[in-house]
Amino acid sequence: MANIQIDELREKLDEINLQLLDLINERAEVAKEIGRVKKAQGINRFDPVRERKMLDKLTEKNGGPFDNSTLQHIFKEIFKASLELQEDDHRKALLVSRKRQPDNTVIDIRGEKVGDGGQVLISGPCAVESYEQVAEVAKAVKKQGFKMLRGGAFKPRTSPYDFQGLGEEGLKILKQVADEYDLAVVSEIVNPADIETAVKYVDVIQIGARNMQNFELLKAAGSVDKPVLLKRGLSATIQEFINAAEYIVSNGNTQVMLCERGIRTYEKATRNTLDITAVPILKQETHLPVLVDVTHSTGRKDLLFPAAKAGLAIGADGIMVEVHPDPAVALSDAAQQLDIPQYEQFVEDLKASGLFNPAKVTPSTI
Ligand code: PEP
Ligand code: MN
Repeated sequence: MANIQIDELREKLDEINLQLLDLINERAEVAKEIGRVKKAQGINRFDPVRERKMLDKLTEKNGGPFDNSTLQHIFKEIFKASLELQEDDHRKALLVSRKRQPDNTVIDIRGEKVGDGGQVLISGPCAVESYEQVAEVAKAVKKQGFKMLRGGAFKPRTSPYDFQGLGEEGLKILKQVADEYDLAVVSEIVNPADIETAVKYVDVIQIGARNMQNFELLKAAGSVDKPVLLKRGLSATIQEFINAAEYIVSNGNTQVMLCERGIRTYEKATRNTLDITAVPILKQETHLPVLVDVTHSTGRKDLLFPAAKAGLAIGADGIMVEVHPDPAVALSDAAQQLDIPQYEQFVEDLKASGLFNPAKVTPSTI
């Protein structure tokens, strides 16, 4: 007898479920229509005042058995789902996503193409210390046939007592050396107010890990016509990294490269943990070039070559490595910068690995 009663009640529930289903979908259609009208009128789709009014009306009429807070929770979910329906698919897809742009973004940096199938090597000292120091590295970079010279003029150091970089003077040195050797300059900018000045000196604006979510800096970098190398934040998720890139692109600058540089984990054997699978994930999710910084991710000279091979094998568009004429006396990152003979060996090993297909460089017109 009891079973028959349960069956009857269940049948009734099934019927009510179907009625609810019809009603919820009917409501969704009306909400979508409202969304279309609002869009045509240029009105914001989310209207918290209207939501509050609807919730108040519902609680006023609520005869139970649900209490008001439960009822509000259920309806809030329905409102949220309706709002998401109002946003068309196109709007939800980020500008940096493959969904939005299936073809790879290819960035031309003084004749060298990044993201075009070949791979680039960005090398140079951690920090610009002097003209002679940069020139010695530039000579080695040029000798190996590479185009991009990195060097930090503004150094965001963990300790305020450590060398902070030469500032604009450092950018001038980089520019002078790069012009002499026909190289392209990659250098980090930390202050949104310096972006305008930096474009005079650099070919690529680097945004460092510590500034990945400095939204004003991202917006400033998004408002200039200069390639940007965006590094992954110290503890940033891939989604946060992608959103940081979106800040730059949505402000008008489509020339963005992503750089995986290791993330902080509990592991102490390396300076950071190189999240190598971030590379194919970023390549799948976005159309932007993806590079691997083997110096800051590993913090160990003995791991630079294996990490670079891993990066190339897994699909990176390039590698970044730090080189210093005399790492022992470097003002930053002394332990993991390669000296010139070690750099030459590193490049020779990379070329011999069969994994490295250097990007094509067309002669610079400047
Ligand atoms: C750098 O490349 O000079 C640097 C400071 O790296 P990161 O921002 O990845 O720590
Ligand atoms: Mn460094």
